Amino acid sequence: VNYYLGRIEEYKRLNAFLEVFADEALAKAAEIQAKIDNGTAGKLAGMIIGLKDNISFKGHKMSASSKILDGYEAVYSATVVERILQEDAIIIGRLNCDEFAMGASNETSYFGPVKNYIDETKVSGGSSGGSAVAVQADLCFASLASDTGGSIRQPAAFCGVFGLKPTYARVSRYGVVAYASSFDQVGPIAKSVEDVALLLEVIAGRDAHDGTSSSVPVPSYASIVANYNCSDKKRIAYIEETLHAEGLDPEIKANTLAQIENLKKEGHTVEPVSFEYLDYVVAAYYILTTAEASSNLARYDGVHYGYRSDQSADLISTYKKSRSEGFGDEVKRRIMLGTFVLSAGYYDAYYSKAQKARRLIKEKMDHILEDYDFIITPTTPAPAFNIGEEPSDPMVMYLADIFTVGASLAGLPAISLPSGNNQAGLPLGLQVIGRRYKEEDLLAFSKCIQ
Ligand code: GLN
Repeated sequence: VNYYLGRIEEYKRLNAFLEVFADEALAKAAEIQAKIDNGTAGKLAGMIIGLKDNISFKGHKMSASSKILDGYEAVYSATVVERILQEDAIIIGRLNCDEFAMGASNETSYFGPVKNYIDETKVSGGSSGGSAVAVQADLCFASLASDTGGSIRQPAAFCGVFGLKPTYARVSRYGVVAYASSFDQVGPIAKSVEDVALLLEVIAGRDAHDGTSSSVPVPSYASIVANYNCSDKKRIAYIEETLHAEGLDPEIKANTLAQIENLKKEGHTVEPVSFEYLDYVVAAYYILTTAEASSNLARYDGVHYGYRSDQSADLISTYKKSRSEGFGDEVKRRIMLGTFVLSAGYYDAYYSKAQKARRLIKEKMDHILEDYDFIITPTTPAPAFNIGEEPSDPMVMYLADIFTVGASLAGLPAISLPSGNNQAGLPLGLQVIGRRYKEEDLLAFSKCIQ
């Protein structure tokens, strides 16, 4: 704990942590040391974890990096938090993220962007920028974050670390700030597949507090990964269209082609498949997630949680002023877009059509995975870009999610693995998508690509 507290202090300028629980973490460490000494310590004893600031930890502040939650303290702990504490993890602090997890650069945070440790002029990625940089810069051992359309995978790729989005419903969402409830999943970010596997094993599984959580049994991911010897030959698909996607960075394309060649050399079957819906995934994702967000964020009304405007005179002005002052531009844009696509006159044209597209995308991906064990793609079309370069057209930023939102629409598990660096030394990521509830296969195979 002292080691990480020192690093956090030294690298404050990265802006990864919003709050550090120094005294509490030290006290907890002493307690766990005693358990280690008498042989009663849990599976995560010694793991110092950072929490994305949209995951509740009872008695601690939680802001989702928004002004509107100013002063809010979690009144209960998320199930994932209960589970890691049960296994003697130590939570060292709250990590910066995009406001309400909406973004791909951590620049929508009310508390400012997170800097990439490799090059501080570059973004960390988002929305879990703090969670990725904290692991990358060795400010904590591992972190828990959320992924709605790439928020674990994309910053993991930008920072050269491992990030897993589990199958939808594999992990309880209880106590996690809702962005788009039919997409949101909590997952680990760490420096190795083994650590990701161990954390997943602790957080996964049915939770009576989350009716959507699955009762599919949770295997021991960690021991499956540890015992896997990489000799099985797999059938792997890559999506032809991803390599011709508009805006694909040439070095990322070359990196992916090199990975394909390596896998072939190792004896795997790697074949191109066509995914004719690639042009529609971003549109479907943003219509559906903004619709869900507009409903989920209605609860921040200046009455129930956090911030209330000084200008509040009556109920309606309390709502209007608190929301106008409390939410940032990107969140407002999404609430408006979501409200629009759900409105009576446009529902059929947008929301209902996007639901149909989602079904087709899911069926197509499931179909590919009947034939192949995994689908691989680059995690992102480009490496980390400059802080402050955020384009004035939000569509440009949304298109950066093109490779990650497919697995989110389909609810499939997907991991981003470090895949070397570009010429400028920036990390690149390879995404591997697996079969539903088959995280053990995905993780075991990922170990062999490290
Ligand atoms: N960049 C995507 C978005 O802004 C993904 C965010 C996420 O997964 N939370 O919606």
